[in-house]
This record gives sequence, C-alpha cells and structure tokens, in this order.
Amino acid sequence: MVEAKSYRVAIIGAGSAGLFAARELAKNGIYVAVFNRDIKPGGLAEYGIYPDKVKMKEGLRKQFASCMDSANIKYFGNVKVGLHGDITLNDIRSFGFDAILVASGAQGTKWLGVPGEDLKGVYHAKDIVYHYNLLPPYSTKEYEIGKNVIIVGMGNVMMDIARYLIRDQKVEKVTSIARRGPAETKFSRKEMEYVGSNFDLDDYKNELFKATPIMRSIYQDPDLSLKFILNSLETCIEPNSSTIFCLKFLSSINSILGDKNDHVNAVIVEENTLIEKNGTIKAQSTGKMSRMDCDTVIFAIGDGVDPEFGLPMDNYEYYKNPKPRFPIEGISYEAFDPNLMQDIEDVFFAGWARKASDGLVGIARKDGINAAQAVLQYLETISPKNLGDPTAFEREFLNDHPQTVRKKELRILNEEEKRQAKLQNIEDFKFSSNEEMLKIIQENKVSQY
Ligand SMILES: Cc1cc2nc3c(=O)[nH]c(=O)nc-3n(C[C@H](O)[C@H](O)[C@H](O)COP(=O)(O)OP(=O)(O)OC[C@H]3O[C@@H](n4cnc5c(N)ncnc54)[C@H](O)[C@@H]3O)c2cc1C
Repeated sequence: MVEAKSYRVAIIGAGSAGLFAARELAKNGIYVAVFNRDIKPGGLAEYGIYPDKVKMKEGLRKQFASCMDSANIKYFGNVKVGLHGDITLNDIRSFGFDAILVASGAQGTKWLGVPGEDLKGVYHAKDIVYHYNLLPPYSTKEYEIGKNVIIVGMGNVMMDIARYLIRDQKVEKVTSIARRGPAETKFSRKEMEYVGSNFDLDDYKNELFKATPIMRSIYQDPDLSLKFILNSLETCIEPNSSTIFCLKFLSSINSILGDKNDHVNAVIVEENTLIEKNGTIKAQSTGKMSRMDCDTVIFAIGDGVDPEFGLPMDNYEYYKNPKPRFPIEGISYEAFDPNLMQDIEDVFFAGWARKASDGLVGIARKDGINAAQAVLQYLETISPKNLGDPTAFEREFLNDHPQTVRKKELRILNEEEKRQAKLQNIEDFKFSSNEEMLKIIQENKVSQY
C-alpha cells in the first residue's frame, strides 16, 4: 500500500477511463490532478453517445460526478495537454507529478489514404459526432451534408451517423459500405431500431444473394445473416423521413472523385472476395471497379490515438511495453520507446488511449481502474518526487492558466444547463461554445460574491 497523499498522479482526460482511474487512485490516498481538454468532463459519454439517450447520459453524469467527489481529485478543465496545447507532458513532470496516466481517448483521425480524401464533403465520423453532440469547436463548424451520403464502415458508429442523417438531416439516401461480407457486420441489433424503417430490405437481399457463393466457400451461412437483419427489423420505431438506407458489402473505397469545385461527386469502389487466413476472414480485391455517385462521404472506420503528446506511436496506437513491469490481467498499460528499447517509466495509458475505439463505456471504465492499479504498483517502486503542499502547485497553475475550469465552476454550469432545460421544456440542454460556458461561469461567480 502506497503512503497516503505523498504521491501525485496527473491524469490526462476526464472520460470514463480517466475518471474511474482517478477515483481508484484517490481511494488509495493519491493526490490526483485531472487535466481535461473540454470544459465539461465525460468525454465521448457526454459528446459521443447519441444525444437523445438522455437517461443513459444522465446516469453516467451522476457516476462521473461521484467519481470526482473525492477531495483528493482536482479538476483542471479547459486545459489541453500536448506539444501545441496549454501544457506538455514535460510541464506536468516539472510540476512534480510522479506518474502521468494518458486517458485522452482516441483523438487522432484515421484515414484510408485513398486519393480524394481531402475533397470538400468528405468527413470523418468523429467530427460529425462531435458536431451533433455540441462539443466546441465542432458544434459551431459548418458541415455540408448533401442528399446522397456514403458512409465507409459498418459498425455502431456508422449506425449513429446513419441515424443522424436519416432522422435529423432527412437526406435522400444513405449507403454504408463494408470491405467484407454480411456475416462481418459490427453493429448491434439494437442500433437498427432507429433506422430500420428506412432500411431497403430488397436491396439487402440482393446484396446477400450476390455474396452467397463467396460466403458458402468459407463455410458461412447466409441465412444466419438474413435472420439477424430480420430480427433487428422487428422492433423499429416509426420513420420520420423517406430516406433510403442500404448496406453494400464486399466493397473497398479505391478513390474519391470530385467536381470542378473540388467537391466530392462519386467514389470508385473495388469489388472484394473473402478468404480465410489463420481463422480470420479477410477481404481480397478482385480488381473489378465500379462507380457510385454521391455528394458526401463520411469515414466511420475507427480512430487513432493523439500524436500530439509526442509519445512514440505504432501506426494509430501508442507503443506499449511488450514486457510490462506491472501487467494487469495480462495487459500492458505502460508507455514504451522502441528506439531506446526501454519503457517511459512514468507514463501509462487507459481506455481508448490504450486501445483506440475499443468497446463501450463499461470497458473503458474497467480499463481505467486496471490502469490505476498498474500506476499504484509503479508508485510502490519509487519515492515521491514532491512532499510539499500541492495547493502551491494549484495556485501557480491557476495563475498561469486563468481559463481553467474547476469543480465548483462545473457545478455552476450544470445548474445553469438544468435551468435552461426546464425553461425551454426540453430533456437536455447544452451550451455549444466555450465562450458561452465561460461567460455563465463568470457571471454566476460574480453574482455569488
Ligand atoms: C459515436 C459513438 C457513440 C457511442 N455510443 C456509446 C453508447 O451508446 N454506449 C456506450 O456504452 N458507449 C458508447 N460509445 C463508446 C464510449 O463513448 C467509449 O467507450 C468511452 O467514451 C471511451 O472512454 P475514454 O475515457 O477512453 O475516452 P473519451 O470518452 O474519448 O475521453 C477522453 C477525454 O480526454 C480529453 N482529452 C482529449 N485530448 C486531450 C488533451 N490533449 N489534453 C487533455 N484532455 C484531453 C477529452 O476532453 C475527453 O474528456 C460510443 C462511442 C462513439 C464514438
């Protein structure tokens, strides 16, 4: 057991992983400072989960508030960590923290690297998700959504985007494209509930019919795929638009074409077949190309971690110590420098920062707790860097970063958002810009004195 209050740990990110890690560390007597880019905590639970899942969000907000309740946890919101942020990892070290837990989610953008990705009308799902969930600055940016939208990817994030396009934007057509076949879809049955009434079942059956010989050649049963879709269509809510929603299989994006104004107007897709390799089903190109007209393309292919910390990365993930000193359930939470072939001993990862776009809130929460356990084990091997009063650090930090939002200011903001929801007779209200939030905090602070 580490000695109470001697150690200081900085957590970057107040999403599910960061906050549950903070609670675990604080429970063990550690002084925890949570630096969060957004003013409000919650991460994707606040700004990713579909806006009308109000009950789920409210439940999570309560859990997060209770996590932050401990006097050992200090919140520094509106503070971006990174090479071009408000503070760097080295700044955090210089403040006297013994360990840094990176729980910043998957903020890097993953692209396929095909020609045309930079055309107008081509977006990444994360930006659209942040936009409709009112996360500044995405909330106030313009995203030009056309009538005929292609979404690349076939998981739950695709389903959320499709829902937004069908029920909110009411576009004419949404087509989700997947490299592999009907048996490899990644969305859950529940997600079809909101878009199933717009689903083009005949088109699906046609796609399934085309895929059948390929599926049978690798011992897949097309009837099971059909059954999954038919079951998921059983509980759909009423449609509120005439959007046609289609799934297209065995298709990889080869390139994106644009018009003379550099706006997307079509994609070229490469037809695939399926092969089995070491127990995994893989897509293999047949070389056949076809063109699909569209006016918007949205990539929902997962995210990568943030390169802005300057930590060594392997493709879209941070390098983790392959031989962890403090593995939890066999998992490495430790940063690693492959050039020096040694660990970065005071840096740890949790949640989507450890494994990008992996799992729901419950998984991130557990990962945060496990990462905190790894950090606690590390602390037992070192002496605390700083035995002085941590409030001196807090005073200095707030002096240098006056835009920082603290716990008591969050309470002001929450109360005002609740008041606005009541006034406007809506379930949930959110301010959509940092300026508005800071103004409310400032005004209410002033009126309280
Ligand atoms: C579109 C979408 C819908 C989803 N819907 C559901 C759902 O319905 N149910 C469910 O259970 N799960 C859902 N999930 C998954 C869930 O959101 C994740 O499992 C979870 O949010 C991951 O938590 P995290 O703490 O690792 O990262 P995040 O939630 O992303 O939190 C990261 C935090 O780090 C902060 N941060 C980022 N960069 C910096 C920086 N440079 N400096 C300081 N702070 C930084 C951010 O402000 C944020 O607060 C959904 C995910 C997506 C993308």
